Amino acid sequence: MRKTSTMFVAAFAVAALAVRVDAQQSAPAQNDSIAFLDHVNAAKLLAADDLTGRNLLDCTMPPQSAAPTGKPVTAPPTIVFDQLYYLGTDIVASWPLVTSGGIIQIDSLDNPEEAQRIIIGGYKELGLDPAQMKYLVLTHGHDDHYGGAKYLQETYHPHVLMSTPDWDMLAKLHEPRAGFGPPPTRDMDITDGQKLTLGNTTLTFYVTPGHTPGTISFLVPVTDKGTPHLLSFWGGSALPRTLEPGAFEARATDMGLLIYKRSLERFIKIGEDGGADGFIANHPYRDQTFLDGKNDKITKNQMRKPGDPSPWIGRSTYIRYMMIALECNEAQIGWIQAGKPRVGQ
Ligand SMILES: [Zn+2]
Repeated sequence: MRKTSTMFVAAFAVAALAVRVDAQQSAPAQNDSIAFLDHVNAAKLLAADDLTGRNLLDCTMPPQSAAPTGKPVTAPPTIVFDQLYYLGTDIVASWPLVTSGGIIQIDSLDNPEEAQRIIIGGYKELGLDPAQMKYLVLTHGHDDHYGGAKYLQETYHPHVLMSTPDWDMLAKLHEPRAGFGPPPTRDMDITDGQKLTLGNTTLTFYVTPGHTPGTISFLVPVTDKGTPHLLSFWGGSALPRTLEPGAFEARATDMGLLIYKRSLERFIKIGEDGGADGFIANHPYRDQTFLDGKNDKITKNQMRKPGDPSPWIGRSTYIRYMMIALECNEAQIGWIQAGKPRVGQ
């Protein structure tokens, strides 16, 4: 296991080097085209046969949305780790983290109806008390993550946390989109490196701009039937479409691919330093928590036998997942720098 991960860390170093070379060259478009296709091929290689799903759509040119379309399918409320639960759909996730001092709820789904039916309904089904929701952490200021927050805030009164830049972004929002709830009332700001302690659990938040100006990412300590693990939670999975920060349009803005890359590289290092050995996400088609009720981690977990590892744990899989994101990020940067040539795929 250790050997495999070392190999991927080495691949990471090579990828970073390749980009530096690209940036220094005033190479003709043909060379740039080849360089960005190398990153696409690297991502496909890293995906092997188990991560080939929607994450590779980030490597299409132009990039396609990785989100499934159609009516959301509600996932069965699931105890994923001893203290971490999944309550969401096949499109968007929410995660209650249970501590000895109450519950830290991560994200709030699209709207009050989903928050009530899926989050609060899920709490009741899994034996959690909604009155114990002490904090609601919003990974970023997009309505599919904060849409249920105002309802939860007004009904159960958790402190609501989001990064300063994303609270500022939401202050510019005029009208909620159809089907999505309004932003919550501004409460607590998350700054880079800030810790949140509740009972026996401490989370450290990192502001990782890219997907939005203040997307947060963090590591989640959990146990699986008593065995400790550390999960990486990268807060903004979809890639920006331009190199530089975009203008505020309608409901949001992003920080461009170049800043996204810096944040991702930083968070990969934070995960390595912390010893992360698994990952979760705020969209279930990213971490494959819930896809179709057949070939996903919730289903595998239901069929798990005593002694089998948790489907969410695997250090080399985690590293490959992060490296695919980095390779596709590099590929999109190279594709734009090469003048967005037509790519046969
Ligand atoms: Zn988003």
